[in-house]
Amino acid sequence: MKAVECIICKNPAMLLPKRGDREDFNCDQCRRFGISGTVIATEKFKNHSNQERSKLSSFIKAKNTSDFSFSLTSNEFNEFLSKI
Ligand SMILES: [Zn+2]
Repeated sequence: MKAVECIICKNPAMLLPKRGDREDFNCDQCRRFGISGTVIATEKFKNHSNQERSKLSSFIKAKNTSDFSFSLTSNEFNEFLSKI
């Protein structure tokens, strides 16, 4: 594990070993989640404002159940974008 800043909320987080195309983070704010490389590469994701980051953090927390297996894929990211 490596100390990084959370890709969503920018708070201190741990980067977990990479699994395929997804990156997994363990963040105090967002808790543990995965995010697909496809989502990371989109302009929409890269250009998020602080307010959108905070909303995305809440979205991930709401999706994340106790097994912490949630991964933000293109489908979920589009669902998020349709709600903001
Ligand atoms: Zn976070």
